Amino acid sequence: MKQADRQQLWLIPATGTPATHVVAEVALLNRERRTRTYAVPDPLRPMVASGALLRVPLKDPRRSAVGVCVQTSEAPWDQTLPAIGELLAARTPLTPELIQLALWVAEYYFCPPGVALAAVAPILSRDAPPRMLRYLRKTDAVAARPLTPAQQSILDALRDGPRLRSDLTRDLGVTPARLRTLLRAALLEEFTQPEPATALPEACTGGAFDPDAPEDRFELSPAQRAALDAVSSALSQEHTFLVHLLFGVPGSGKTEVYVRAIRAALERRRQAILIVPEIALATQIVARLARRFQRVCVLHSRLTPAARGRALAAIASGAVDVVIGTRTAVFAPLPDVGLIIVDEEQDHSLKNLAAPRYHARDVAIKRAQLRGGTVLLGSATPALETWHNAHTASHFRLLRLPDRVGDARLPDVQIVAAADSPADGAQGMLSPPLESAIRETLQAGEQIVLLLNRRGFAAQLRCPACGLLARCPRCTAALVYHRADHVARCHACHLALPAPANCPDATCGTKLVATRLAIQYLHDLLAQRFPQARLLRLDSDTMRRRDDYARALHAFEQRQADVLLGTQMVAKGLDFPGVALVGVIEADASLWIPDFRAAERTFQLVTQVIGRAGRRPGTSRAIIQTRSPNLPALRCARTLDYEGFAADELAHRERLFYPPFARLVRLILADPRPAQARDEARRLSRGLRRCGETLDARIRVSDAARCVAPRLRDLLRYHVLVAAPRDGGVQRLLLSAAAEKLLHPRVQRFVIDVDPLDFL
Ligand code: ADP
Ligand code: ZN
Repeated sequence: MKQADRQQLWLIPATGTPATHVVAEVALLNRERRTRTYAVPDPLRPMVASGALLRVPLKDPRRSAVGVCVQTSEAPWDQTLPAIGELLAARTPLTPELIQLALWVAEYYFCPPGVALAAVAPILSRDAPPRMLRYLRKTDAVAARPLTPAQQSILDALRDGPRLRSDLTRDLGVTPARLRTLLRAALLEEFTQPEPATALPEACTGGAFDPDAPEDRFELSPAQRAALDAVSSALSQEHTFLVHLLFGVPGSGKTEVYVRAIRAALERRRQAILIVPEIALATQIVARLARRFQRVCVLHSRLTPAARGRALAAIASGAVDVVIGTRTAVFAPLPDVGLIIVDEEQDHSLKNLAAPRYHARDVAIKRAQLRGGTVLLGSATPALETWHNAHTASHFRLLRLPDRVGDARLPDVQIVAAADSPADGAQGMLSPPLESAIRETLQAGEQIVLLLNRRGFAAQLRCPACGLLARCPRCTAALVYHRADHVARCHACHLALPAPANCPDATCGTKLVATRLAIQYLHDLLAQRFPQARLLRLDSDTMRRRDDYARALHAFEQRQADVLLGTQMVAKGLDFPGVALVGVIEADASLWIPDFRAAERTFQLVTQVIGRAGRRPGTSRAIIQTRSPNLPALRCARTLDYEGFAADELAHRERLFYPPFARLVRLILADPRPAQARDEARRLSRGLRRCGETLDARIRVSDAARCVAPRLRDLLRYHVLVAAPRDGGVQRLLLSAAAEKLLHPRVQRFVIDVDPLDFL
C-alpha cells in the first residue's frame, strides 16, 4: 500500500466521515478585513471555484451575507465549519488573475478585500444577478380561480417574453405579495439570467472601424520605430514583464506608437488595454483611436450599470481585443492582457478618489507583473516617481521621442512678470503685454485660450508692492494664512507661525495682504476691457455635467466664442487649430498650494499649454504671466526642459524624504464635534509614532494638523502624514497599527490614503 493511501485510511474516522473536504475562502462584500472559510457542500462542488458569487450564513442564524470565493482547497474535515448557503453566480468577471490583483490592491492600499473586489468587478456590488420573470402558459391552472385585473395585467406584460422583475414591479406598481400568488399558482416562474456574453453591445463600440485610416500610411519616424521595436520585442518574449516609459514632447507621435504597439500585441494573440485621463474620453481623440481597431470596447462613464455589465461580460468572453477607458479599465476582464498602455501617466485623474484609493498606473504595472505582460506609459512630463523608476528600476525601459512630427512648431513663449499694485488689482490678472496681445489677436479674428491656474480656497500672504510671498523658513513652501487664529501654517512640514505682518524682503517691508482671486473676477475684467469679445467660461462651477464640458469645447471649436477662459481643465482639452494666443495667468499659483508636488504641477501645466498651443503650423504665441519669473519650474518649462527640471526637483525631494524616495500615507479624520477629530488625530499620531519607532528608524509621522480644506460639509478635518521607506514600510506600519487597534478612531469619517496625490 502506498504511503498516501495508508495515511488516508488512518484518517478516516470509524463513523465513515470523509477525512477531508473542499473548503472555500470567501471575501464578504463588506468592510471585513479578513476572509472567512466555508465548507463547500457536495452538490455545489463542481460550480464553486474562485470568482463564484455566494451567499453564506453568519453567526446569527437569521442573517446571511454575500461574498466572493477567492480560493478553494482541500482541507482536513472540520465539522464545525459552516457551509455555503447558496450559489448566486458560478461565473463573474472575476478571473483568478483579477482576484489576485484585487487582493493586492486590498493589501497595498490597505482596504477590505470585499471593497477591492467590488471595485474590480463593479457588477458585484449588486447583491445578486438580476431576477427575471417568465410567464408559463398553463391555462388549466387558471381555472381554479379567475384572475384579478391586476394579475391579468402582469401576465399581459410578460406575453412577449421574460422581463426583469425589477422593471415589472416598477412599471406596473406590482406588490411582491401579488407576484407571490402568481408564482405559487405556477403561472410565473422566476429565474436568474446569466448575462449573454457573445456579441459586443452597441453602446461600447467606439464607432465604425475604418479599415484604411490615413494614419496607417504614416512612415514612422526613426524614434517612433525604435520605440515600437522595443515594445514589440518585449511582447515576443513569452510572458516577460517590462515597463516602458515613452517620453516624448507633445506632438511627437506617441499616439501612433500606441496604436501600432496594440496591433503588435494582437498579432501575438493577446489583448490590450489603453487607459486615458478622464477628460480625454469627452473628446474626439478616443473616437479617433477606437476607429483603428475592429473589436474594441470603450468603457465610458455614460454607460448604464446594465450596459457596463454587458460590456464586461463581452470582454470576459473574448469578444473584445482592445479596451479603451479611464482608470477603471485597468480591471477589464480580458482573458489574456499582453499590453497595458497608460496615456498621460502623470495625470491625477488616474488616482481613484474613494476606497480603494488605487492609482491606475501602479495597478497596471502590478497586473502586467502578475500575468507577464508589457506596460507602456506615455508622457511629455512624466511623474517624477516614474522618471526616477525609469532610471533606477531593472524592469523599466526609457524610450524617447525627442522631436515633433512634421512642421508643427512651438509657439513663441514669453514669460511676463506680473505684480499687483494696490491701486489696480486688475494688473495682477492682466499684465500690459497680455492685454495688448489679446487685443491684437481679437483684431486679427483669431481665438484665445486663457488659463487661470487657481483654486479658490487657500489664502496666501503676499506683498502688494513687490509680489513676494510669505514662505516657510524651513522648507520654502508657501504659507497658508488662517484668518481665524491669525496663524500662518506650512502644510508641507506643519510648521505654524504667527502670521508675518510685513514683506519678507527687508528693503521693502510693505504690509502683507491676504489674497485670493478667482475666475469670476477675470471674466468680469475681460468683459469690461473687451466688450465685443465673446467669452466662454470653462470651470467646475459652470461645468456641472460631463456633457457640458464636451459641448463647450465643441462650441469653441466651431468658433462660437473668441475667448475660452478656465481652470486647468482648459489645458487638457486644448487642441484647437484656431487658437493663436494662449495666456496663463498666475502660472505660479499652483506653487502656493501647500503640496510638495506644487512645482511639478506647475511645470506640467505650463509645458502642456506650450505644447498644445503649437499644434498648427504658422505662428502662435504663449504668454506665461507670473509673479515669480525666476522659478526653476517656469524657467525649465519655457524651453520644455523636463530633464533639467526633474534633476533639480528630485534632488530637493531626496533631501526632504518625499516621494519617489519615500512612500507617503495620509490618514484623514473628520467629525462634526469640534474637538473630536483633533483629539483623535493627535492620539493616532502618537500611536503611529510608537509603532514606527519599533519598526524602522526612517519612518516619520507628522503631528496632527488641520487639513487645508478644514471643513467639508459639516465635518472638521484633521490629518496625519506618514513618510516611510519604499520597501513596504507603509504597509508594515499600517499592519502593526491595526494590530494595536489604532485604526478605528472614534470619528465619523476615517480615510487611509496610500500614495496620496492630494493634500487638501
Ligand atoms: P502625441 O500623442 O505625442 O502628442 P500625436 O500622436 O498626437 O502626438 O501626433 C501628433 C500629430 O502627428 C498627429 O496629427 C499625428 O497624426 C501625426 N503623426 C504621428 N506620427 C506620424 C508619422 N510617423 N508621420 C506623419 N504624421 C504623424
Ligand atoms: Zn515648511
